[in-house]
Amino acid sequence: MSIEIRKIGIIGAGQMGNGIAQVCATSGFDVVLHDMNEERIHAGLATINGNLAKLVGRGALDEEARQGALTRIAAGPGLDDLGQCDIVIEAATENEDVKRRIFQALSPVLKPDAMMASNTSSISITRLASVTDRPERFIGIHFMNPVPRMQLVELIRGIATEDPTFEAARTFILALGKTVTTAEDFPAFIVNRILLPMINEAIYTLYEGVGSVDAIDTAMRLGANHPMGPLQLADFIGLDTCLSVMQVLHEGLADSKYRPCPLLVKYVEAGWLGRKAMRGFYDYRGEKPVPTR
Ligand code: NAD
Repeated sequence: MSIEIRKIGIIGAGQMGNGIAQVCATSGFDVVLHDMNEERIHAGLATINGNLAKLVGRGALDEEARQGALTRIAAGPGLDDLGQCDIVIEAATENEDVKRRIFQALSPVLKPDAMMASNTSSISITRLASVTDRPERFIGIHFMNPVPRMQLVELIRGIATEDPTFEAARTFILALGKTVTTAEDFPAFIVNRILLPMINEAIYTLYEGVGSVDAIDTAMRLGANHPMGPLQLADFIGLDTCLSVMQVLHEGLADSKYRPCPLLVKYVEAGWLGRKAMRGFYDYRGEKPVPTR
C-alpha cells in the first residue's frame, strides 16, 4: 500500500521548522506551520518571505513561484490545525520530554493514516514512536541546517517503522530535490555522531587554552579546508542543540569520550546559545562577529 503525501504539518517554527516549511512550499506541497509560541510562527513566516525575496533577487526563483510558495504556507497556532495533514514533521526544541509530550498530544488530532516524523538530531526514533498510536507510521527525517541550502536528508527507521512509511518518506524527500541517506536508529545517527564530537573537541581545545576562538576556527578552515570553523558552526547549529546531542551520545553510548565540555555547558547556562541568541562563541550584536574568548 503506498502513502501519498500532499499536505505537510510542521511543529516548531524555529530555524529548522522555517527552512523545512520553505523547501516544502517551493516544491509545491501545502504546509501548516505550528509553534506553541504564536510569535515564532509570524517571525518564521517573515523569515521565509525574506529568504524567498532574496532568491527572486538572485534570479533563482521567479515572482510567481514566490507568491505561490507563500500562499501554500498557513499558520497553525493550534495543534488541531494539523488535523488534515498527511505527515507532521516535528522540529521543536531538542529535548526528549518536549518531543514526547508533542507526539502524545498529536496522536488523537491526526487522521488515522497520517504519518509522523521527527527532525531530531540525536534522540531515539524508536522511543519517540513508542509514545504515539502509530509507531509503524513513524520515521526520523533529519534535515540539515540551513534546509534550503543543504542537500542531504538522513532517514531513520524506528524498530516498528513499516516499509510503506519509509518509501513514502523517501519519495517525499526526493520530491524536495534532496538526497537521502539511511541511518540506523543509534544515538545521533551518522552526521551528528561524527560532527558533534569534533565540535565538542574544538570546545575542549578552547577550554584548555590550546587556542583562541579565532585560532581554532582559522586552523580548521584553512588547515582542514572546512567551509566554517567548528566554533562558528556550533553557533550556527545552536549551543543548546549541540549540548543536547552530546548528552544523548554520552548517555546512549555510555562512553566517556562523549562527555560534553564544561565550557559548552557554561555557555548554555548563560543563555549564549549562538547566532539565534546573538551571542555564543562569537558576539553577533555588532556589524561583524567578535570572538567572545
Ligand atoms: P530552535 O530553537 O530554532 O526552534 C525550536 C522551536 O520549537 C521554537 O520556536 C520553540 O518555540 C518551538 N517549540 C518548543 N516546544 C514546543 C512545543 N511543545 N510545541 C510547539 N513548538 C515548540 O531549534 P532548531 O535549531 O530549529 O531545532 C529544532 C529541531 O531540529 C531539534 O530537534 C534539533 O535537534 C533539530 N535540528 C537542528 C539542526 C540545527 O543545526 N539547528 C539541524 C538538524 C536538526
